[in-house]
Amino acid sequence: MEIEAWYTCIYCFEQNDVVVDVTGGMNQVYVEDCQVCCRPNRLHISIRPGLREADIQADEA
Ligand SMILES: [Zn+2]
Repeated sequence: MEIEAWYTCIYCFEQNDVVVDVTGGMNQVYVEDCQVCCRPNRLHISIRPGLREADIQADEA
């Protein structure tokens, strides 16, 4: 299952949408380039149990 989530780029503060693959675990960390400024954000993803929602905290990769 995949769910859609969002984070704010730490560099340009634009909102990015990401698709999280739930089968990767309830807590995931990976680096993704901003779709606007192409700089790398490290995403800390927490999937809320039982909900089709994820919280994402971004920091410097
Ligand atoms: Zn950006």
